[in-house]
Order: sequence, then C-alpha cells, then structure tokens
Amino acid sequence: MSFNSLGLSDSLLKAISKKGYTTPSPIQQKAIPPILKGQDVLASAQTGTGKTAGFTLPILQLLSQTQPVRNRPIRSLILTPTRELAAQILANIKEYSEFLDLKSTVIFGGVNQNPQVTQLRQGIDILVATPGRLIDLHNQGLISLAKVEILVLDEADRMLDMGFLRDIERVLKVLPQKRQNLLFSATFSKDIKKLAMGILQNPIQVEATPENTTVDAITQLIYPVAKEKKTELIIKLITEGNWKQILVFTRTKQGANKLTEFMNEAGIKAAAIHGNKGQGARTKALEGFKNGSLTALVATDIAARGLDIPLLPHVVNFELPNIPEDYVHRIGRTGRAGANGKAISLFSPDETVFLRDIEKLVGLTIPKENIKGFEPDPNASKEPIKQGQGRTQRFSAPKQPKVDSAKKTNNLGNRRTTSSNNDRRVNR
Ligand code: AMP
Repeated sequence: MSFNSLGLSDSLLKAISKKGYTTPSPIQQKAIPPILKGQDVLASAQTGTGKTAGFTLPILQLLSQTQPVRNRPIRSLILTPTRELAAQILANIKEYSEFLDLKSTVIFGGVNQNPQVTQLRQGIDILVATPGRLIDLHNQGLISLAKVEILVLDEADRMLDMGFLRDIERVLKVLPQKRQNLLFSATFSKDIKKLAMGILQNPIQVEATPENTTVDAITQLIYPVAKEKKTELIIKLITEGNWKQILVFTRTKQGANKLTEFMNEAGIKAAAIHGNKGQGARTKALEGFKNGSLTALVATDIAARGLDIPLLPHVVNFELPNIPEDYVHRIGRTGRAGANGKAISLFSPDETVFLRDIEKLVGLTIPKENIKGFEPDPNASKEPIKQGQGRTQRFSAPKQPKVDSAKKTNNLGNRRTTSSNNDRRVNR
C-alpha cells in the first residue's frame, strides 16, 4: 500500500516524501482512512509504530479542507502525558504541515508560560498540550477550547498512570459536545476501556500493534548478577563493549541519579532523565544523547515513555521493572525503524518474581549468560525488593503461549501479540 492510496492531499504527500517515508506503517494504514471519514477511533499503538503520523496526517488533511476563519480558534487538541512527547508531536506536525496553511503550537509545564501565551494569541489551529498546563492556562482565561473539532488522547494509558484522569475529565467538560475523538493507547486496561467508552462515539477499533509484544530486531539477554555488582558490571559492559549509545532503565529516580554519578566517575558520559529533572535538564540530556555527546541516558519508565530516539543499539535494564508491561515498553526502544538492537537485563536474585512475570507476559524464556566474577550467590534471597512510588499492586500474569525464540517480529508494525493481559495496570 502507498500513501497515495490513503486519500491524502498532494501537500501532505509532498511532506511525507520529504520525510523519506515510502510506505504507511500498519497503524497508519488502519487509522488514517476512518479518521479522514470523521469517525472516532480507538487505536492500540505504542511509540515506534508511526502512530503520530497515524493521527496527525489525517487531522492536517481534515483541517486544511476548510478555510481558516479569522482569529483561528483551536480546532484540534492533542493531549499527551509528557512534555517530551508533546514537543515531538509538534515537531512532526510542523514537518507534515510545511505545505499547508495551518498553525500549530505546544504548551507544557515546567517553563515560563508567557511565550506559550503569545503564540496562542496569534491564533492556532492545532494545539499539543500536557493536561496540567492546559488547565492552568484555561483557568486563567488565556485559552478557549470552545471550537475544538478533533480531540486526540495520545498515550492514554500513560496519562492514567500519571494520574491525569481528573484533568482529562476537566478538559472534556470545556470541549464542544460534537467533535471527533481519537484515543491512542499502548495497552487497554479496564480504566482505559472505561475512559474510551465515556468519550468515543461508535469508535472504529484499530490494532496494528497488539499490546505486550516484543520486537523482532531485538535480541534479548539476561546477565544474572549479584545486586551489589550491577554498577560494576554495567560499566564493564559499556567500556569493554565500546558501546556508544545506551538507554539504561532504573526503577527509581534516586537510582537513576546514583547510577549516573557512578558512570560519570568511571568516565562514561551519562545523564539522568526523570520526573524530578527540570525541563531544561531533560531537553539537554535528550539532545546530548541524540547528538552523541552523551553515551548513556539513564531513565525511569515514565520519563522514557514516548521519547523518539531512532536507531538505538542498546537498552539495558539496570533493574527489572516490577510492572511486566514496562519491560515491553523499555525494550521497544531498540530495534526501531529497521535497526538491530540488543536488550540486556541485569538480573539479581531479588528480582526473581519480576522476571517470572515478564517471561510469562512475553511468552518466552529469555536466554541467560553468566559473566565470570559477577554471578550472584546461589543462596541469595529471592525475596522481592520493596516497591515504591505507588506502584504497589501486582497481579499474576495469565499463562501465555510459548514462542520458540527470543527474536520476534518487527518494528513499525507487524508485531505479534504475546498477551492480551492488561488489567494488572489497574491501581497503579
Ligand atoms: P512514532 O511511533 O510516531 O513515534 O514514530 C516512530 C518513528 O517512525 C518516527 O521517527 C517517525 O518519523 C517514523 N515513521 C513514522 N511513519 C513512518 C513511515 N511510514 N515510514 C518510515 N518511518 C516512519
């Protein structure tokens, strides 16, 4: 299938070809036609599938079909959980709308509101926003959402995880009743289904990326290691392997900070990215990581969500996530857009239960390799570590069908489902 056959305008096709895209990804093939018809869409898609273009391209087409009115009221509102994701979506919109007469901007917290307000005053067709700043500006009477025609909730699951439900409900109250609604989510918990049912009208359901999948181009590997030797091991792996770009996951913000310090002391240029970091520090860390001046980016799950870092060769789970779905999200950061990637987990005995749940979820036994001198004490306690940050509730994963290899399906779609279980995200 080509982009031409999706019914997109010449101006959009020109921008798409300038981006170098030749074939629409599965989520784009499935989501674009119903959105163009004005239908509500419930889409299952995570970062890396091309989902952003899946909703921005048809929105641009729909909005460009009518003449801009005086004052340019906001006609499309895209809500996202994180500032980074918001900024990335806007960057995409700017590129795709290069040949259209449409204006777009982004608002998020953590930075001075004045430049954002100035932008809004000039008239904006498409607004990308995080919920907090949007409500803040709306409460100050600096923003009107009365003319919104198309609402997008992007990464809706993560918005709920981050506690934005009340904010979303507040936003919904100030939107016109009659509008088109698009909801994108990587997973579908009961809470997401409830939210979707309250918002979407006869939605078309598209599922190009079934949830809880692992990616073909990714080789997964576990290094069993004594807990206290993890730092030493990761430094050894990076330096001896001469790794150039590694995304490292820790479970906590403090853990991310500590590891970053150790890495820098060992001569590995690293920065941490998590919710306690200011916007400036986060942007700088991401930039440094993308342009190669930083070797390692140490992130918590929420901070890493939605970051578009193409061609990532290594993802390291310094600690296994206690929520198995987070493992899938984490390793999905490598092997994107056709690149090969390696997802390595440093696994200590106290994480035995986490690993069991992850393997059940992804439906495979992840290969293990011992590294001499780092093996854990066979008698070490397998008791799980204490969990913090409200992520206290865990549920057992249901039985998953086994697959025969650690290498599975591919990027930009064509992923294979290994689980339909999502209800464990409830109560997070
Ligand atoms: P997303 O899932 O929206 O974060 O997109 C993931 C990456 O895929 C981004 O770097 C996009 O620029 C890229 N991308 C989106 N659509 C296509 C396409 N049809 N062909 C190739 N790359 C794409």
